[in-house]
Amino acid sequence: MRWLGAFLIPLLLAAADAPRLAKLPPGKTFLVIMPHHDDHTHEYGLGGLIARMVDEGYRGRYVRVTNDEKDGANGWGRNDLVNEKETAEATRVLGIDEAISLNWRNDHMSSIPVQDLRAQLILLIRKYRPDVVMSYDPWGHYDRNPDHRMVSRAVAEAVWLARYSNCLPEHAAMGLKPHRVPYLYYSQRSDYGRGHRPNVAIELTEDQVRRKARAYWLHRNVRVNPGAARRVRQELDARGLKIPDLDGLGDEEAAIRLQEWRMFWISARRGKESGAAYAETVYFMDEWSGLPGLAPYLAENAVTK
Ligand SMILES: [Zn+2]
Repeated sequence: MRWLGAFLIPLLLAAADAPRLAKLPPGKTFLVIMPHHDDHTHEYGLGGLIARMVDEGYRGRYVRVTNDEKDGANGWGRNDLVNEKETAEATRVLGIDEAISLNWRNDHMSSIPVQDLRAQLILLIRKYRPDVVMSYDPWGHYDRNPDHRMVSRAVAEAVWLARYSNCLPEHAAMGLKPHRVPYLYYSQRSDYGRGHRPNVAIELTEDQVRRKARAYWLHRNVRVNPGAARRVRQELDARGLKIPDLDGLGDEEAAIRLQEWRMFWISARRGKESGAAYAETVYFMDEWSGLPGLAPYLAENAVTK
């Protein structure tokens, strides 16, 4: 029955780890704030949640922060217009009343001040007073898209600051009062990992580890610390201990020896875990990593011609 256990145990573990079903929070309105026209429809949410919220009585708006000029093959200006139109259609399908475009330049968000975008979002939160805000997860794992990172950060800050009257008090002159958003839903591309764990081990020879160690400590200015080596030896001496390998070495040489030892130690440890004398472990992505699920789909469906 070993084969059965091999299948069941992962399934049981997965079930135990799976998030529990939850009800929707009470409320009437939501605001979805995303960098691009299509971000609410990606594989990881929030399209289904939006549809369900509308079905259960919520009304919502979609905020497209950029102009999406780089998305498409129509040239920048036409891409902006086409994508804005398609945003309106897609959000309507989900039951969203209105799509708002802030029109920051697509892929240029790294260069704008976060407080400018944040101020716009605070204004929108105070104007529409949503019970729920949805966006990318600002604490999700690193997202390579600069617009995603900028918008998720600005949303998190805006949600927090919109409740304080001392933040952007000039809004009061427009009749906008502070607003506390009680509920948030954040989504992220989860196949990037919860902090990438290495998925491959690279076997190394002893010589390769030695060169790796040397390359490390050759940055003497930051890596070779005679004082640290001196303290190690003083602490050992106080306990009546010593490291014979360090006998006769000055503090700088001892520091280098300790760095080399550490490199061999970690390389041997990774090697033992992967069945080699020495190894390094890294996170590997291949040419199929651009789309979620593409690699397993190809593994199952691609055949020899
Ligand atoms: Zn996007």
